Amino acid sequence: MELLFMEPVFKEAIWGGTKLRDVFGYEIPSDTTGECWAVSAHKNGDCRIDGGKYDGTLLSSLWKEKPELFGNYPGDQFPLLVKIIDAKNDLSIQVHPDDAYAKIHENGSLGKTECWYVLDCEPDTDIVIGHHAKDHEEMESMIREQRWSEFIRKVPVKKGDFFQINPGCLHAIKGGTLILETQQSSDITYRVYDYDRLSDGKPRQLHVEQSIDTIVAPFEETVTKPVAVKVSGAVQTHLVTCEYYSVDKFDIDGVFSKDFKKYFTNVSVIAGKGSVNGIALETGSHFIVPAGFGECRFEGRMSLICSNPE
Ligand code: ZN
Repeated sequence: MELLFMEPVFKEAIWGGTKLRDVFGYEIPSDTTGECWAVSAHKNGDCRIDGGKYDGTLLSSLWKEKPELFGNYPGDQFPLLVKIIDAKNDLSIQVHPDDAYAKIHENGSLGKTECWYVLDCEPDTDIVIGHHAKDHEEMESMIREQRWSEFIRKVPVKKGDFFQINPGCLHAIKGGTLILETQQSSDITYRVYDYDRLSDGKPRQLHVEQSIDTIVAPFEETVTKPVAVKVSGAVQTHLVTCEYYSVDKFDIDGVFSKDFKKYFTNVSVIAGKGSVNGIALETGSHFIVPAGFGECRFEGRMSLICSNPE
């Protein structure tokens, strides 16, 4: 059995920049590249396996044809999506639906629960998480009357912060932020407000009605308390466990061995370099550890973000 290395898919965006090239060395399509879909089998950005026995195979095909690689995890699609987001400029103020709403209104799609690990950000940057409306009625009127400064809740952000964003939580990544996002495999975003920006001369589409349907009011903060534990060769920080995924960070210095065991595990190298079972790793490498793979022996100085479905 072998590790499944990913060939990322890139997405251009009006708010994107060049950090995916500058920091990770990827060949990006333009100087406004917003997203690297690093581990994805979503139809809008399906990664191919890079090297080995399955070289060139789409992750979605492997999921269908070799379910044993994923521990026969239930469901008709690969459930997670790992992205790196380079927000040179602000992303729209947005919200995502849950599974139940998406199933009815978005043609059977999954909903979108996501979480962010802040890889880097400029000084004095903030992000939008939640809102200040006291109930559904006030939320609706604040949106319809475009009282954005009153409505939007901003929080300061710094490198190493972690946020869990549940469906119904209003949010926006602001310019100057580089994020690794682990999410359900979904591409459904409802834009509430886009700063009246133009894309190709036209404002981008908003989804005001769906947003009003979806935003939870009053806002309920989800507090995660990452706990760092020293293990042999690494510091493990458990970031979150929710209904859809579990996410951990490993800061490796030396030799660190791990048997991930549960179903399959997505691994992203977010800093440094080294190797896994003798295969070279560098910042920006992404791979899946298949179910039953056994021990991964990491060596080097590097930080990993790992996720697996729960
Ligand atoms: Zn989002």
